[in-house]
Amino acid sequence: MSPFDLFPLGQPAFVSNPIDRAAHLRFHDDKLMALESHPATRAYVLYRDSLLVKREGDRVRALLTIDEALKAGANPGTIFLGLRDGAAVFGMGMSPAAAEALAGRDDTTLTELRGMAMQGAVPPEQLGTIAMAKSMVSWHQRHGFCASCGTKTAMREGGWKRECPACKTEHFPRTDPVVISLVASGDKCLLGRQKQFPPGMYSCLAGFVEAAETIEDAVRREIFEESGIRCAEVTYYMTQPWPYPSSLMIGCNARALNEDIVVDHTELEDARWFSRDEARQMLLRQHPNGLAGPHPFAIAHHLVGRWLHGTETAG
Ligand SMILES: [Zn+2]
Repeated sequence: MSPFDLFPLGQPAFVSNPIDRAAHLRFHDDKLMALESHPATRAYVLYRDSLLVKREGDRVRALLTIDEALKAGANPGTIFLGLRDGAAVFGMGMSPAAAEALAGRDDTTLTELRGMAMQGAVPPEQLGTIAMAKSMVSWHQRHGFCASCGTKTAMREGGWKRECPACKTEHFPRTDPVVISLVASGDKCLLGRQKQFPPGMYSCLAGFVEAAETIEDAVRREIFEESGIRCAEVTYYMTQPWPYPSSLMIGCNARALNEDIVVDHTELEDARWFSRDEARQMLLRQHPNGLAGPHPFAIAHHLVGRWLHGTETAG
């Protein structure tokens, strides 16, 4: 079964995260150390956009023992993600040298996460926790020094804080909000394509929420900037964690007030109105001209799918 057979069922990747974050344990270094050495404990190891997996026959296993992770070259610093079925799960990073040392091995490999998620190579119920590990590992790698005074910071609270030993400033992991919206005008929806998209692929327009901006205003601003379309009502649908490196996609529906598109070519290669029939063909990868919609992995697929099914609240 291809992922497209699921349309309109299923949900975007990274949404389901059955882990119990057990935040109270973050404050007890002794308990975290005991959990690290417990035989039931497991870890996800991330390096840039890749996940470390062990290949077992034609299957891959991403949940490794701490020993397996360390032997494969993971950094010893662990980030406590939480408890799953009572067992602790940690996130671990890896240095470029350790990642390079894996080249040529076929039993333990770094595999690009997005491709594995799109192909269903990792059980979907694990993707939320893997996204959590990826965002956290990336944050630690990019925030090793105090933004206030430049001193090297230290990991605290199971990895959920970094602290500056000089000025005592506390630094916390960040999540960056991004709005992504299905804009409709009657029976048509607005989709655009960025230069780096695969040929023929169109998706919903998106952009970062700016300082002191509401979600609704961010949708109206982004849509107008990229396409020249003014929007009226904006309604919220659902969110999707997007660990590249730490975004939260906020899926919305918006009703257009005009239809004359003016594409901002610094942001988009093209933007067009599509009929319901075309949008359906694009989601199902059956468009006669080879145009395609977003993959079921992405929230945009579900925004278009929901609109096609007429359950949207705007448009
Ligand atoms: Zn400092």
